[in-house]
Amino acid sequence: MADEILDRASVLARAFLKDLAEQPVGPPADRDALVAGFEAGGLPATGEDPRQVLERLAAAAEPGLVATAGPRYFGFVIGGSLPVALGADWLAAAWDQNAAGWVTSPAAAAVEEVVGGWLKELFGLPANSSVGFVTGGTMANFTALAAARHSVLERAGWDVEADGLAGGPPVRVIVGEEAHATIFAALRMLGLGDRRVTVVPADGQGRMRPDELRRRLAGASGPTIVCAQAGNVNTGAFDPLATVADLAREHGAWLHVDGAFGLWAAASPALRQLVAGVELADSWATDAHKWLNVPHDSGLVFTAHPEPHRAAMAVTAAYLVRGAGGERDNDDWVPEGSRRARGFAVWAALRTLGHDGVRDLVERCCGLARRMADRLEQEPDVEILNHVALNQVLVRFRPPGSGDLAAADALTDRVIKAVQRDGTCWVGGTTWHGRRAMRISVSNWSTSEADIDRSAAAILKCARSAV
Ligand SMILES: *Cc1c(COP(=O)(O)O)cnc(C)c1O
Repeated sequence: MADEILDRASVLARAFLKDLAEQPVGPPADRDALVAGFEAGGLPATGEDPRQVLERLAAAAEPGLVATAGPRYFGFVIGGSLPVALGADWLAAAWDQNAAGWVTSPAAAAVEEVVGGWLKELFGLPANSSVGFVTGGTMANFTALAAARHSVLERAGWDVEADGLAGGPPVRVIVGEEAHATIFAALRMLGLGDRRVTVVPADGQGRMRPDELRRRLAGASGPTIVCAQAGNVNTGAFDPLATVADLAREHGAWLHVDGAFGLWAAASPALRQLVAGVELADSWATDAHKWLNVPHDSGLVFTAHPEPHRAAMAVTAAYLVRGAGGERDNDDWVPEGSRRARGFAVWAALRTLGHDGVRDLVERCCGLARRMADRLEQEPDVEILNHVALNQVLVRFRPPGSGDLAAADALTDRVIKAVQRDGTCWVGGTTWHGRRAMRISVSNWSTSEADIDRSAAAILKCARSAV
């Protein structure tokens, strides 16, 4: 029966993927109907036939599935799944490896060691950097900032793992005005409450202003952490990393870079200048489930300083057997113990794409974002708010002949809703410099020029009927 179940699961999955490009991208879902579909009859007193259960699961889930993996999903920054990465992830599930340590899965440990090395090469990070495989950018930021916290306090003569924060020297955290919300979530979990953070003003594209950072660092003394961003979630802009790194170094601060999607620009010679100086930072967070297009979840953390990284994360217990020959134990580098073997899917994606393929994927998405902006901008009363330097486009719609800002806010929101209802593509909304904007992110391997043209036409049609 196991064969029958797995064959059927594969058929159901492939049917979903076959329809992915043509189904409505974000169908309206009714919460009550979805819950009722799963609830059906309550927890059964006696078990059901697993073949039937699988059919029921697919039927119950289908009305609530969003085609985020499809070619015309432009919400957030989500990416899809390369078929080979999905296949590798199916194997990871079937192998059911516990990637916590070497003894629980030598294969998972070895593949992480190799993939970590490849990614350091691809991003141009120092070769001796430590690597951890986490759920996503949030936990990558958390892990890196835990290493930072350890390091800056150790230099001040304080052992935060042993003594906690209470009674210790205060840690100053300086972030750009446009730092991602998950930086604050990570700081909160680390006892560095988000209200104590010093915020550095940003320029019109959301880039941290180095003159403002210099002023704030000049007033800083003692343990200091600076958080910079590679790839703003609204504009795609990068903080001036080389200058920020110089300033941080001058003041003995730890520099962390959140590059959840932006770090992948390092794979492209054409875009590489955006991340110039990134290798001078002390830690980096990125996602593989976004731009590399591996299935969720998959995040990565790197630090240039393995000792504080390990000191902040490693767990020891008598029963936790370590490899005797210096073999890798992933749980030395991440908050989790037992864990999915995420390295296999990343390996499969990198092996299939190669350095050139990653470069093409990144450059293609940026070109498609530019194409979307060009198509939309041709229409009068449509305004592109950002410099489209990466894969992000911010769009604003104005009522014809009107300079009324509030009316443009309301119209922009109506267009976003109309596009979501239309289902040709999916876009989200945001507030940028106090004004409403449509936010378009291109990060899927399967998006084509035709998808962009078709989506731009649908957006403009919605805009015309929303006026
Ligand atoms: C997505 C994102 C995060 C959070 O990553 P998750 O994978 O959602 O946890 C952090 N920073 C930036 C810039 C992001 O785009």
